[in-house]
Amino acid sequence: MSTKRAFAGIDIGGTSVKFGLFSPDGSIIYKEQKPTLAEKGAVPLMHLVSNIAEQLMYHAAEDELEVRWLGVGTPGAVNFKTGRVIGATPNIAGWQGTEIGSTLKERLNMPVWVDNDVNTVALAELRYGAASGALTAICVTIGTGIGGAVIIDGQLQRGHSYSGGEIGHMSINFEGPDCKCGRKGCLEAYCSSQAIINRAKKSLEQNPSQLFNEITGGLIDKLTIKQLFTAAKKGDKIASEVLAETALYLGIGLANLVNLLNPEIIIIGGGIADGGPEFLSKLSAAVKEQAFGSAVKELKIVKAALGNDAGFIGAGLLGENQH
Ligand SMILES: [Zn+2]
Repeated sequence: MSTKRAFAGIDIGGTSVKFGLFSPDGSIIYKEQKPTLAEKGAVPLMHLVSNIAEQLMYHAAEDELEVRWLGVGTPGAVNFKTGRVIGATPNIAGWQGTEIGSTLKERLNMPVWVDNDVNTVALAELRYGAASGALTAICVTIGTGIGGAVIIDGQLQRGHSYSGGEIGHMSINFEGPDCKCGRKGCLEAYCSSQAIINRAKKSLEQNPSQLFNEITGGLIDKLTIKQLFTAAKKGDKIASEVLAETALYLGIGLANLVNLLNPEIIIIGGGIADGGPEFLSKLSAAVKEQAFGSAVKELKIVKAALGNDAGFIGAGLLGENQH
């Protein structure tokens, strides 16, 4: 049996660590996930990641796969040269400062590349997913927080101190609502899942809706993004208004980026991307209205295609063209 080439990636998330092996054509050979148990802290999480890394390499050896490096994606800004987490991550306490790269290199005795998780998602979507073949792209993930990645001429733009692409903390209103980062009017303060839900709840307090009561089983306090989209699909006025407002806010933020970078494609990932084609077309219309005409002529706005696998797949690609 001849050895086949394969890529190995680990995607550290706030709730689970996803990992796997895949072929150069993008087909998945093996994948699995384990709970992050972020509340236990950074040290046990690093032990978990080390064990997963060894498990992956063992699996590759069993299948006679040739893996030349390991790639890891993590929340927070990462020094791509050293593999150290340099930015704070609200969902994993104490993770800032963790030496993921050197710890794993020592343990595995092989090259290890570590990057921010939105960067890895962007790499995967560009290679095998929604933006395959594109050269200039912006990737935005919207969930608890808003993350961004910028690719120009096929290259990730990490920035001078690996903190580029922080789209979520671009302000769209200097007098706007408070953001978790301590500033005002950030895109995240308007368009994170929680911000969207809070706007809907506020509106529902003033205009109670029978449909929302039914959808949430009377638990409006526990309203989710998914339920909000369901209400909109069933024609609820408040849900539609809140989502139209969200599309406008997001559209303004993205229009600023479009004017700066003139991308070919914008990939939208995270819970909001699952809201259906209607939200995406509203967003697309908002961006086209807000941005400079010549920059949006050929612009495509698409939903991420690789779902939960994008993170570990993009991580696996990190070592390409690196020395
Ligand atoms: Zn902010």
